[in-house]
Amino acid sequence: MARLWGFEEIRTPTFEEAGLFSRGVGENTDIVEKEMYVFTDRGGRQLALRPEGTACAVRAYLENNLSQKENSRRLFYIANMFRAERPQAGRYREFEQIGFEIFADPSPAADAELITLALAILNEYGLKNPALAINSIGCPNCRGPYRRALKEALDKIAGELCEDCQKRLDKNPLRCLDCKTCGPKAQAAAPAFALCAQCAAHESTVESLLRSNDVSFKKDRSIVRGLDYYTRTVFEISAAQLGAQNAVAGGGRYDGLVELLGGTPTPASGFALGVDRVIEAKTAGQAVDSARGRQAVFAVMVKPSSATLDYAFGIIHDLRKQGIAVFTPGYTDSMKSQMRQAGRSGAELALIVGDEECQNQRVVIKELGSGQQETVIRAQLSAHLKNRLNS
Ligand code: AMP
Repeated sequence: MARLWGFEEIRTPTFEEAGLFSRGVGENTDIVEKEMYVFTDRGGRQLALRPEGTACAVRAYLENNLSQKENSRRLFYIANMFRAERPQAGRYREFEQIGFEIFADPSPAADAELITLALAILNEYGLKNPALAINSIGCPNCRGPYRRALKEALDKIAGELCEDCQKRLDKNPLRCLDCKTCGPKAQAAAPAFALCAQCAAHESTVESLLRSNDVSFKKDRSIVRGLDYYTRTVFEISAAQLGAQNAVAGGGRYDGLVELLGGTPTPASGFALGVDRVIEAKTAGQAVDSARGRQAVFAVMVKPSSATLDYAFGIIHDLRKQGIAVFTPGYTDSMKSQMRQAGRSGAELALIVGDEECQNQRVVIKELGSGQQETVIRAQLSAHLKNRLNS
């Protein structure tokens, strides 16, 4: 999918200087305040296990002058992230994200493209009915006045807000809107957000690009995203089949971040998709697909002499080269144990090779379901298997 959308892969280190995240993600975010794994290395440096990938991608983009390379403006990563959260279903302390970032493109088309990409990945993977919600959180010009108006409105109900939200009131009142506990109360009290003309135009282009490509979405003013660096477009995709932690992907535009991290002002936009949750959402209530299944055989070796081991090993190697999955047992296991492993492997057929088969250049094929078996000539084995496995 990344190739189809023109993204290059970037791999960044598992840990970064801790300051990158406090500067880039924001001092007052849950990630930096409560969830970062910070440690001091032997050189006395403060490092952090990466809690998210965008700041890492921006750092690498700047350090490697990727802005000079036109084909490096679209980057993606697949990486493990670390957050010291209270573990629960769908929320882990180590989890995996696939993230996409587009640098140096201020257009609403870039945002719409990222949204269509996130949905296309979910669709390609087979996730049913992902729900897209979008919002605009404006730019520093229109967000400033809104922040003040929101603070004033929320100050009036401060007593009803949770402890975290009372702190957020001074630092970032927008975050009260997506608080798990007082979000609905805060949204009810919040004044309408009047976007400036440029932000409103940006928002309406994103929406019309989505509409004209048959992407349905809900506009949700409560989506503000936890991170300080977002501007204008923000979005979240959720999967109803998950419980409380139902967000599978989220992102948006972050026009101020590259400059904040020391680069020249560079608009940017991106999203991250939570791999663990996407898998859970698809497999909720289903047996997990196994790599072991059809198209596979299990090789059973009957007390092999060295010539027989050599013969069996050659057959296994050949079949794998031809794209047939071959599972092998513990080589020294008893025949009985090997057959038991074959039965449990999910493979359809077992290939049985002993000294006699080796001498005659033959292989016994046993259908594991019915127990029926036949003997075939080695030279015809792969054609024979392909035929049977595809039928
Ligand atoms: P965020 O970086 O917080 O915007 O998260 C992007 C996506 O990563 C979310 O939509 C989730 O699917 C996933 N995610 C975030 N935090 C966790 C976590 N602690 N455990 C598992 N997945 C997570």
